[in-house]
Amino acid sequence: MVKSKLHHYQNWIFDWSGTLVDDLAMVLDATNHVLAQYGKGEIGREDFRMSFRLPYAGYYEEILPGIPLAELEDHFREGFAHSEASGVTSPLLPYALEFLECLHSKDKRMFILSSMDAAAFERHAVELGIDHFFEATYAGVLDKRDQIHTMLEKHSLETSDTVFLGDMCHDVETAKHGGVASIALLTGYQNAEQLGAANPDLLIGDLSEIHPLLEMPLNSESL
Ligand SMILES: [Mg+2]
Repeated sequence: MVKSKLHHYQNWIFDWSGTLVDDLAMVLDATNHVLAQYGKGEIGREDFRMSFRLPYAGYYEEILPGIPLAELEDHFREGFAHSEASGVTSPLLPYALEFLECLHSKDKRMFILSSMDAAAFERHAVELGIDHFFEATYAGVLDKRDQIHTMLEKHSLETSDTVFLGDMCHDVETAKHGGVASIALLTGYQNAEQLGAANPDLLIGDLSEIHPLLEMPLNSESL
């Protein structure tokens, strides 16, 4: 991926948590709710960031071995709802709205590929008023690598014309698996060292770093 060519990409696939929304507090509450059901102590924010990974089935098998995933997911949804009801919010990340609006104004196609529970995602995207930006959304995806090819085929997305943005190594691995460009963001769950190890095409602090690159540089086409 050449940074200066970023404005050429037509198809933009976004992860949700940590990429467009700051929902770490709610996800941490929900995870601690799950742990509490099995008599486990709370995990702190930084420990969670260091240990949590996708696909989350592997993470839970490590911390709560032998518990059926469906049971854990029920507890997670319950914990997420409790967190929401107690007033914890998950706002849009800084620059996310401006970035989506800019892509929309340039007739780019936008998609969501997320592991977040599908019902929670739908509710949240509508509440935040950004659901209309996305041509299609794939939420509740256990392993994004299993979904990416189907998604590319179904919507006739050329790999050379598509970029996937996410905040976790699994997002970068999914982009590579699908043969599309990868942009890793430091606005979410994993740090520069973790994400750097996944070798994304681009590693950025936040969306404001690439927003100006969406504009067609003057005279760039003739150079
Ligand atoms: Mg994420």
